[in-house]
Amino acid sequence: MALIHLENVGKQFPNGTVALERFSLSLQAGEFVSFLGPSGCGKSTALRLISGLIAPSSGRIERDSNFGSTQDIGFVFQEPTLMPWASVFDNVSLPLRLAGVTTPEIAARVNEALRLVGLQDFAPMFPRELSGGMKMRVSIARAMVTRPKLLLMDEPFAALDEMTRIKLNNDVLALWQAHKLTVVFVTHSVYESVYLSQRIVVMAARPGRVVDDIGIDAGYPRDELYRTSAQYGQLCRAVSASLRGSGATATSAL
Ligand code: ADP
Repeated sequence: MALIHLENVGKQFPNGTVALERFSLSLQAGEFVSFLGPSGCGKSTALRLISGLIAPSSGRIERDSNFGSTQDIGFVFQEPTLMPWASVFDNVSLPLRLAGVTTPEIAARVNEALRLVGLQDFAPMFPRELSGGMKMRVSIARAMVTRPKLLLMDEPFAALDEMTRIKLNNDVLALWQAHKLTVVFVTHSVYESVYLSQRIVVMAARPGRVVDDIGIDAGYPRDELYRTSAQYGQLCRAVSASLRGSGATATSAL
């Protein structure tokens, strides 16, 4: 049984926009899947449907019975969305406080989550004192603090410089492997999707739909050797070609 299965899911917003049409996807436990496509093709909408934040207009979504509580899902947005008046510790502890976890356990869990992202020494600091990459790490720690099974990431690194993005890509892969997470990663970068994923769901806009589902048959761990290999280059070309075939221009998607 898949962790989550979407069958012919459609989403039309009240203003008439059809954000997704006949979207079908089976997400297996432990997979690393990317949604790749140009702006407006429904990637974020698909992610929000998977999370349960919004409901489909048509079709159905089935979830594994062992998987259901909001604690099982971690969500990381493009902006770190931290509370500026709260310390790193307080920002990361928010999902636990909302869930009514006891104070001593909160401290242990927040420290554990901060260790995962290398920020164990930054608990008392405030968002304004952190770099963009560090803020994003806090956001990832906040998503991981509930020990989710499924991590949903909506273009998390799009606003970061390339060196920071490469480092965070490696950190996400390490988290995925160490915690046996299922990850759905939204991006409009061919390079990023081929670096990270086992599988790339290529999408096109107007209406938002799936046009391809490409397996990335390269082993892990992935590193600089992979990033500079002929295999990586070939895979990027194949995925770009699929995007071009879907109507998205290669340049807008890179
Ligand atoms: P992507 O993440 O691929 O950029 P989105 O899922 O954000 O795409 O959006 C898909 C389409 O749905 C776009 O045309 C967008 O403008 C529209 N859309 C998204 N959210 C809403 C909303 N709440 N109300 C109306 N239209 C929306």
